[in-house]
Amino acid sequence: MNANTSAAGGNTWRDLPAAQQPEYPDSEALRDVLADLASYPPLVFAGECDQLRARLGAVAKGEAFLLQGGDCAEAFDAVSAEHIRAKLKTLLQMSAVLTYAASVPVVKVGRIAGQYSKPRSKSTETRDGVTLPTYRGDSVNGFAFTEEARVPDPARLKQMYHASSSTLNLVRAFTTGGYADLRQVHAWNQDFVKSSPSGQRYEALAREIDNALNFMKACGTDPAEFKAVEFYASHEALLLDYESALTRTDSRTGELYDTSGHMVWIGERTRQMDGAHIEFASKVRNPIGIKLGPTTTVDEALGYIDRLDPEREPGRLTFIVRMGADKVRDKLPELVEKVTASGATVAWVTDPMHGNTFEAASGHKTRRFDDVLDEVKGFFEVHKGLGTHPGGIHVELTGDDVTECVGGGHEIFVDDLHQRYETACDPRLNRSQSLDLAFLVAEMYRD
Ligand code: PEP
Ligand code: MN
Repeated sequence: MNANTSAAGGNTWRDLPAAQQPEYPDSEALRDVLADLASYPPLVFAGECDQLRARLGAVAKGEAFLLQGGDCAEAFDAVSAEHIRAKLKTLLQMSAVLTYAASVPVVKVGRIAGQYSKPRSKSTETRDGVTLPTYRGDSVNGFAFTEEARVPDPARLKQMYHASSSTLNLVRAFTTGGYADLRQVHAWNQDFVKSSPSGQRYEALAREIDNALNFMKACGTDPAEFKAVEFYASHEALLLDYESALTRTDSRTGELYDTSGHMVWIGERTRQMDGAHIEFASKVRNPIGIKLGPTTTVDEALGYIDRLDPEREPGRLTFIVRMGADKVRDKLPELVEKVTASGATVAWVTDPMHGNTFEAASGHKTRRFDDVLDEVKGFFEVHKGLGTHPGGIHVELTGDDVTECVGGGHEIFVDDLHQRYETACDPRLNRSQSLDLAFLVAEMYRD
């Protein structure tokens, strides 16, 4: 990796319109920050990105299932062992459910260690007659509703780098240092089992896994695969200045990698075919996701393949479909059909969150668990109907006991939302709702 060579190919986006970028009042300060960032060590290695591309290739070919999840927006003040462990634990439990109950290898990717930047539908927010710039994520400005906090500050880009770095460090320690050993399936559930129906259901499954592990051990086999998990980091590649500063030339191959995370995706609001984000993504070798909302046309889908996956390499491109429960059955079939007919092997993944957001009477932005589930069902139905592979789920979740989405086995009602509504942006499934979802998705996958 050579920081000095990051400038060339990773900067072609600068000639194109870039949506959703902050307007910094002090461009000199920005320049200094970016120069520092370009000199910092990479957060991930090119070889790890290649490995994830290969794993996603298996997803695209129907041999594995992607579980991608985490916060809508990570927050600097939530970079603590407690929060990170809880999130990881939730993802590991979901993964155990999916692997065991659906008998499919699960590729585990967090919305983590870099998910600090938010595209917004509106650029201002008004409260009690006061209008201020909208909050764009901790990497840009402050959440507090004050004029001072809402000014974009380039120093926050460095904070994002350091927050990502320490998160990734802990994630690596947890996933390879014994905590993620499959024999810990019960331990991940300890604080949870009594209080929730999904915790109890999980406990029964963990006992079965234990029996299977004991049986294998008695037979003389105790594979290394059970002792650590492969876990990858992903985020939306929104702030192109930051992503470019972390884009480096891989000394093995001479190719560019965005070393801010293993996988990056382009969001629904920044996927303009001739825009800067698609151009940036076309230059780096990381696995790339594109969010596809309900207005996506066949030409667009085929266009992304031509721009981002000209070699038709399974694992390079993941389409993350977020149409809404009421639209997915109508809109998705044609896209899947035409993409399949084009000869490309993309991974199809459902994001059942972003098309199902509404505002409750209390003013909270929320989602119904049943709508989330219904979109996943619709996604599976479409793929079953066409004989293609429903490759995974992309969800907003937290390991904390929040009350942000309504419904679930341990039901949260609209009137409960105010109790622990903690998200900095979109409503997340809590741990119990996440596990409920994993059990239901495993059933759908198996059937
Ligand atoms: C998100 O993933 O948080 C997001 C903003 O999604 P989308 O681009 O699909 O709206
Ligand atoms: Mn979101």
